[in-house]
Amino acid sequence: MKVLVVNAGSSSLKYQLFDMDTEEVIAKGNAERIGLDGSFLKHKANGVETILKKELPNHAEAIALILETLTDAQIGVIKDIKEIDAIGHRVVHGGEHYTEPCLVNQKVIDDLRGLVDLAPLHAVPNTDGIIGCMQVAPQIPNVTVFDTAFHSTMPDYAYLYGVPMQYYRDYAVRRYGAHGTSHKFVGQKLAEYIGMPFDKCKLVTCHIGNGSSITAINNGKCIDTSMGMTPLEGLIMGTRCGDIDANVIQYLCKKTGYDVNKITQILNKESGLLGITEKSSDMRDICEMYARGEKPAVLALEMLAYRIRKYIGSYVAALDGVDAICFTAGIGENTPELREMVLTNLNYLGVKFDKDANYSIPRGDDGLITTKDSAIPVYVISTNEELAIARETVDVVLRKFQK
Ligand code: AMP
Repeated sequence: MKVLVVNAGSSSLKYQLFDMDTEEVIAKGNAERIGLDGSFLKHKANGVETILKKELPNHAEAIALILETLTDAQIGVIKDIKEIDAIGHRVVHGGEHYTEPCLVNQKVIDDLRGLVDLAPLHAVPNTDGIIGCMQVAPQIPNVTVFDTAFHSTMPDYAYLYGVPMQYYRDYAVRRYGAHGTSHKFVGQKLAEYIGMPFDKCKLVTCHIGNGSSITAINNGKCIDTSMGMTPLEGLIMGTRCGDIDANVIQYLCKKTGYDVNKITQILNKESGLLGITEKSSDMRDICEMYARGEKPAVLALEMLAYRIRKYIGSYVAALDGVDAICFTAGIGENTPELREMVLTNLNYLGVKFDKDANYSIPRGDDGLITTKDSAIPVYVISTNEELAIARETVDVVLRKFQK
């Protein structure tokens, strides 16, 4: 079975084609600058990367070029698009209704369009990507896999904000979380590593990337996660401020003369690691600055580590204990300096940090970074959201044909 996984952004469309018999990626790439001048497709297969320049006015044209490329006699990997059994789409927001992956039909498209206010940056491109696939290859089933779905098991006392209930009833103001596909994927691996069934353990999963979130998983179900109605809540991120007193917004409007939209943009795009270091949102740059002893980078890492520790502590309290913790995503997998800052201060949990192991995990590998006698094991686990989406897509398609 072959599954194409699509991740559509506003001006880009990333894809991976999986052979699900082996779970291997047989081709992948990215259509970039969709709807802008100078659009192109970067395609990689059989170890060769090819750049194809072509005007891509919309997502449907991008999908058409991707399918042409996948079936190209020279750089393609399949003979006919009929070989693709299903297309799995990463969808950032499923609202309250979509708590599981589902097969796309017109109602799903209409519902996704209705979520634009909750996910203004993602709902439109996500939907455009799906519609593009339906237009270009109507015979292939499309499956939506929602980033919010895994968090739909949060209890009301965790997902509600302390604002008038009317805003929840009328406008669906509540916490939804994000990165759910990744938290579930690494949570399942973590349970395997500690030799416990996923549905019978307490886990804290730390997805630390450009966007970051921490999730508390009890018996295979999310009971709390640090992102909120939007991805702005929670940890300090690449350019997002994370938790903040809501009154800061009004205060900054008054002081700067900016309107609420401008301040919201600053909190989303110019804050976090970028705002603190005043140089970069990229952890690679920040680690270089840190190694040179530059104070803003030291402060940024300390602030991030401190907030991660606070979330871990609060989730251990929410779970009433924890069996294991893991770090994943771009920063979680690749920044031992940060992991060290977090883990050398978890003595109250009986976490015994293994410094050598922490600094010697090869990139892309999983590994234990606590000692064998640590009360709580902590792992680095590489996430693979595309593979998780491909697996969910296979499940949905097989269920449909079994009916
Ligand atoms: P993600 O959003 O999961 O792709 O993560 C992006 C973040 O991971 C950026 O801040 C990158 O700088 C960081 N990152 C990726 N590779 C490395 C690396 N080798 N060392 C440190 N940070 C990395």
